This record gives sequence, structure tokens and C-alpha cells, in this order.
Amino acid sequence: MLQDQAPNSTDHKPSVCVLGAGIVGVSCALELLRQGYRVTLLDRSEEVIETSYGNAGVLATSSVLPMNNARLWKTLLPMLAGKSPSLHYQTGYLLRNCSWMIRFMTHANEASDSYRITALNALVRKVFNCISSG
Ligand SMILES: Cc1cc2nc3c(=O)[nH]c(=O)nc-3n(C[C@H](O)[C@H](O)[C@H](O)COP(=O)(O)OP(=O)(O)OC[C@H]3O[C@@H](n4cnc5c(N)ncnc54)[C@H](O)[C@@H]3O)c2cc1C
Repeated sequence: MLQDQAPNSTDHKPSVCVLGAGIVGVSCALELLRQGYRVTLLDRSEEVIETSYGNAGVLATSSVLPMNNARLWKTLLPMLAGKSPSLHYQTGYLLRNCSWMIRFMTHANEASDSYRITALNALVRKVFNCISSG
């Protein structure tokens, strides 16, 4: 558990607990600290040992196409029928998580693709600009 208090925190800002100390949790905690909140960062295991630990560090605009994009509808049936090497699943697991699956597929449309691609592209470009400006 990491616990810190921002140097310029005020009594008016509430304490915040961030769950999960991967890159997303650490980034959120740092930004909250910067904004003057008291922050506690909790992880069920060691910090930055799960997905963020295995990160290859590649920054690529080619990764901005979300997995649940509009074209997924065309390949969904063959995938569910086990005719594609791209997807392996257990029927029981899928049924238990069908509400997640429905939300995932709800976003597989061109308007949502465009929104998410634009946002991710802007984020990646910002990082490129930071790196190139040192
Ligand atoms: C092999 C590999 C290579 C990759 N390469 C790249 C790359 O080159 N470029 C790129 O941009 N992305 C890459 N990625 C993807 C990127 O690493 C992930 O998208 C990113 O690390 C996800 O960060 P996260 O903070 O969301 O998740 P995580 O790093 O998994 O952090 C989540 C944290 O939450 C904790 N947690 C979970 N449940 C609880 C709970 N109930 N209570 C408390 N804590 C909990 C976990 O212990 C974990 O520490 C790669 C991923 C892998 C696996």
C-alpha cells in the first residue's frame, strides 16, 4: 500500500482511495495528488506486478483501433462457432459474463469507433510530442 499526502493539499478536498496500482491506477493517483487530494493507492498484490509489468513499452498509433470495432459483427458468428483461431472461450464463462459481453458489443459501431480512435490517437500523439520535446 502506498500512502501519500500532496504537499499543497487542503482540508477541503476529500481523501481518495485508488484500487489497483498498475499504470492506470498509478497515473490516476499521481494526478489526484497533483490536484491536492490525499491519496491512498491499494493493490491486492505487489505494486506494478501484473499487466503493467509485462508491458513491452511500445507506443503505436496502429493500436488505437479498439477490439470491439464495427467490423467485429462480421466475424463474431464464426468466432463463436469456434471457426476462428482468434477466440477461445468457455460457454459457461461467457454466459456468466453475458452482461459484460453485451456492453462490449454495444460499442462495436462506427460512431463509437470514431470517438474512441480520435481520443486514443490524441493521447498517443501527446506522448510522442512529450518524448520529442524531451
Ligand atoms: C505482454 C504484454 C505486453 C504489452 N505491451 C504493451 C505495449 O507495448 N504498449 C502498450 O501500450 N500496452 C502494452 N500492453 C498493454 C498494457 O500493459 C496494459 O493495457 C496496461 O498495463 C493495463 O494497465 P492497468 O493499470 O489497467 O492494469 P494492471 O497493470 O493489470 O493493473 C491492475 C492492478 O489492479 C490490481 N487489482 C485487481 N483487482 C484488484 C482488487 N480487487 N483490489 C485491489 N487491486 C486489484 C492488480 O493486482 C493490478 O496490480 C501489454 C500487455 C501485455 C500483457
